[in-house]
Amino acid sequence: MKIAVIGGGAAGFFAAINAKLFHYSSEVTIFEKTTKILSKVKISGGGRCNVTNGCEDIKTLSAAYPRGGRQLKKALGTFSTTQTKAWFAKREVPLYTQDDGRVFPVSDDSQTIIDCFLSQCKELNIPIKLKHQVIKITPQAEKIALRFKDNKEDNFYDKVIIATGGSPKAEGFQWIKNLGHQIISPVPSLFTFNMPKEHITKLMGVVATQVIATIPGTKLKSNGPLLITHWGMSGPAILKLSAFGARVLHDYNYNFQVCINWSNEINEAFTREKIKQIVDRSPQKILPNQKVIAMPERLWTYLIHRSGFNKDKKWSELGKKGINKLVSVLTHDIYEVKGKTTFKEEFVTSGGIDLGDVNFKTMESKIIPNLYFAGEVMNIDGITGGYNFQAAWTTAYIAAKLQ
Ligand SMILES: Cc1cc2nc3c(=O)[nH]c(=O)nc-3n(C[C@H](O)[C@H](O)[C@H](O)COP(=O)(O)OP(=O)(O)OC[C@H]3O[C@@H](n4cnc5c(N)ncnc54)[C@H](O)[C@@H]3O)c2cc1C
Repeated sequence: MKIAVIGGGAAGFFAAINAKLFHYSSEVTIFEKTTKILSKVKISGGGRCNVTNGCEDIKTLSAAYPRGGRQLKKALGTFSTTQTKAWFAKREVPLYTQDDGRVFPVSDDSQTIIDCFLSQCKELNIPIKLKHQVIKITPQAEKIALRFKDNKEDNFYDKVIIATGGSPKAEGFQWIKNLGHQIISPVPSLFTFNMPKEHITKLMGVVATQVIATIPGTKLKSNGPLLITHWGMSGPAILKLSAFGARVLHDYNYNFQVCINWSNEINEAFTREKIKQIVDRSPQKILPNQKVIAMPERLWTYLIHRSGFNKDKKWSELGKKGINKLVSVLTHDIYEVKGKTTFKEEFVTSGGIDLGDVNFKTMESKIIPNLYFAGEVMNIDGITGGYNFQAAWTTAYIAAKLQ
């Protein structure tokens, strides 16, 4: 059997190696359009490659995918984070899990993952053809014909796995669309919020450990740490919001409001009660000396000022109106977002092949038999934390079975 894997990225290599292991007598070839393979793996996780996530519960894992979570749930039953760790361990690439759940090679060097894949390809005799861009696929009665750029002749394969990754533009998917697949137009995911007019940027570097962030007028909501940057806001709470809101925020042209609940308590009565307790207990203390919620000093001082109080104000002087104002700032603090900035550590495009066109038991196209998909080329994307590579490993492993 002749197998072509299109794309020399994470999903392509993982699919090719496993395809050869599942079908040992087959000829497997990787075709990569550029002169570089695994370029995203190399720069991933700040050069350390966040290979997967420590979470082993499939329901929790699948909730980390704004697009594709439902479909991946079943697929993760076949190959999940546990299998990823075992796969690399078997090939002498030990991994470790950080406190935040992110999993890295013990070497803390993405080159370890690249070296592992390259040595597997060598051992299994999988050729890697660089500068081979597939520009057309033609299904035939028994075979699939591939046409490469600058080549007038077709090459024939029994099975083809497409692992060509995301594309920032819909045109990048045109050759797959020509086969009859629906394409969900790509939009960026995992970005940080720009707030050019907001003074909070003066607090750059400050981290609030737990906030609830929402986008007014939508159901978008996330929680987690928030980092104030010199251009706006970042950190897990914001990145999660950007991922789950990728499409809506694109439709807003990245001009919207974000509401921060610094108290991390859904019920504002809780914050109000805490303020009343301070007023009763320490009426003569000044506001800066008594925090309502644990947070960095600079942020607390900023929020007091934002509530309209000076630093000499005593708790006893707040009154009902003052308490209302403070509760409002602590639980419904609204900021204007104007634009986005790409998150350098890890970014993905949402969009790609409509998941309705893919059989997730096999990763085979529902439109073209013997054609399979793996990785970010599909409309699957996860939040940060190793989930995107895990989606690549999971889908590539299933595609490699060529069922
Ligand atoms: C800076 C950065 C850091 C990241 N860090 C992490 C991280 O730490 N953890 C994590 O989980 N995720 C991370 N991600 C996301 C992760 O890298 C991607 O989700 C993953 O690489 C997708 O793999 P893929 O093989 O599907 O696509 P890609 O890695 O994009 O590979 C696709 C390959 O196909 C080739 N190709 C495209 N079209 C053709 C064609 N027509 N013919 C032949 N070849 C073609 C491309 O040149 C490319 O080499 C990061 C992303 C970025 C950009």
